[in-house]
Amino acid sequence: MKYKRILLKLSGEALMGGSQYGIDPNRLKQYTEEIRAVKDQGVEIAIVIGGGNIFRGVQAEGSGIERVQGDYMGMLATVINGMALQSALESAGLYTRLMSGIKMEQVCEPFIRRRAIRHLEKGRIVIFGAGIGNPYFTTDSTASLRAIEIQADVVLKGTRVDGVYTADPEKDATATRYNELSFQEAYEKNLNIMDMTAFTLCQENKLPIIVFDMNKPGNLASIMEGEMAGTLIK
Ligand code: UDP
Repeated sequence: MKYKRILLKLSGEALMGGSQYGIDPNRLKQYTEEIRAVKDQGVEIAIVIGGGNIFRGVQAEGSGIERVQGDYMGMLATVINGMALQSALESAGLYTRLMSGIKMEQVCEPFIRRRAIRHLEKGRIVIFGAGIGNPYFTTDSTASLRAIEIQADVVLKGTRVDGVYTADPEKDATATRYNELSFQEAYEKNLNIMDMTAFTLCQENKLPIIVFDMNKPGNLASIMEGEMAGTLIK
């Protein structure tokens, strides 16, 4: 395998599938299959999942909810998604641990770096919930930070497009996809890959990012085998 340990970032929004809110059971099943395929290849997997399908901190503004409070609500939303994903993976016979950036011991373990690494070494899939545990951050930043902490080989950002394009492919038919980009190029061209905090963390720590289509069956597994089914930023 090209990668031994990966950090997979899934957006909360993607979990909605065709719905407007919440968690689509079919999407959950589909993701479970994609993750299982990679597990079968012997890859160590850590996952960060967003919360956008339930709540985002920025939503709070203007609704009478204070921003910081909203951010915590968003973090709790990621735990809900993490719990759903954990259950789905376990029903498929996989071993998992959910670790949270905010202590909630009845529900999951607190995030302890050495422990997370140990889980991975033992073949457990580790899901990081509640983001970093601090407001004003995103789950993209969480993905970058946790990936560096656990010494992952790469951050895989699962999206609904198959990589980074010169323009938005859903709006511009002439847009073309990059196979590979440097951090500097992505920055200069103002390509929105992750928020700046997340992006800079990866750049400074020489952690490559792959943006790929998570909804295409078998895609994740083929990337593990070295196929360039997305955009590599390094
Ligand atoms: N959040 C936060 N700190 C973190 C991670 C997340 O405050 O370390 C909050 C923030 O309000 C964010 C929400 O949790 O809007 C949900 O995460 P995100 O928007 O990144 O989810 P996604 O867009 O991937 O679904």
